[in-house]
Amino acid sequence: MAALLTDKLIKLSTGARFDLCATCGEPTQVDASDLLASSITRVVRPDGGFFSVFKVLMSDACHYDCLYCASRAQRSFRRHRFAPDELADTFVALRDEDLVSGLFLSSAVHGTPAESMADMLTAVEILRERHRFCGYVHLKILPGAPRDYVQRAVELADRVSVNVEAPTQGALDRLATRKRLAEDIIQPMHWVRQAVERAGPDALKAGQTTQFVVGPAGESDREILGSVAALRRSVGLRKAHFSGFAPVDDTPLEGEPATPPLRQHRLYQAEWLLREYGFQLPDISFDEEGKLPLDTDPKVAFALRNLHLFPLEVNRATRAELLRVPGIGPRSAARVLAARRRERITSLAHLRGLGMVVRRAALFLLCDGRRLGQFSDLLRERPIPPEQLELFGFSSTARAPQPV
Ligand code: SF4
Repeated sequence: MAALLTDKLIKLSTGARFDLCATCGEPTQVDASDLLASSITRVVRPDGGFFSVFKVLMSDACHYDCLYCASRAQRSFRRHRFAPDELADTFVALRDEDLVSGLFLSSAVHGTPAESMADMLTAVEILRERHRFCGYVHLKILPGAPRDYVQRAVELADRVSVNVEAPTQGALDRLATRKRLAEDIIQPMHWVRQAVERAGPDALKAGQTTQFVVGPAGESDREILGSVAALRRSVGLRKAHFSGFAPVDDTPLEGEPATPPLRQHRLYQAEWLLREYGFQLPDISFDEEGKLPLDTDPKVAFALRNLHLFPLEVNRATRAELLRVPGIGPRSAARVLAARRRERITSLAHLRGLGMVVRRAALFLLCDGRRLGQFSDLLRERPIPPEQLELFGFSSTARAPQPV
């Protein structure tokens, strides 16, 4: 293992950590240098299992000058670059050590986007054709990549992603000097969709994803989530990642404040509601500046804003209605529906046994006509403004549920 840990490998694998598109969990701890181990990421499968993905850059030498980026051209540090066969051989060596079974390959723009993409595609072709590697590959498509390169990426990879970075051209202009949102970023995402449609259902099984840089462009959460919703419709976006801004020394944005991690967390929660729970953008609550409230989970915010929809009778509610209840996810909703086919649900213990977070859900449910919720439980989780308490039929000092 030690022989693999060249300076280049360490620099280009740690550099890839800034790209979140392959991340579905925490970095694994493996028997290797901590720096390398932190670039091996556990990716969760739909069935709940996981596999380890090696995240690496083809090159950190960039001809672009994005204002926030550690790899920007005007920043002074020693650059590294893999040759395609070198990258492929390195990955195979890691795989043969049983450290990784998948690859996430990104790159700075070395030369032109086409030149950088050509190297990335060649590296994956070597893996697929010379090394007969059939495992997971997530390939980044660089902004401005030519159409035939996008087509080839779709043929080679299980997942591709183009980083949108910002929801509008105005916001992107505050991050990057040379990127055109419509031509360089959104257009390749359309080409991905068209290539998948031509190739058939087995192509690009893990779909296309994207990433936003959150904070420094002054964009609102409403704009980001609006962009996500539009891309889901127009290009079949599978998933969006949100990278909270962290200032990097020796960049024009080094003095800007870091984005609070809670903002990033709320964006992930809201995106999850749009993607998995059937929520639409108007269902999401924003403040007057278009920001998600930081003190309230977006699903609880929806429920509190729509109290006329609750409580729901758990023995009659549809799947779509159940998914709007805080504390009920797709799995527990499916279990409720299955249980109802066998028997009536009559108690809190019954709901708990179905995997529901009853501390939250019970407040919004009736079970055989009876209210189950302990309002004090929700009060313990977060302060609720007095006007919302009154909507529940409580005074702001009430600590116990009242009949409704
Ligand atoms: S294109 Fe921009 S964001 Fe990408 S590596 Fe270069 S400077 Fe960084």
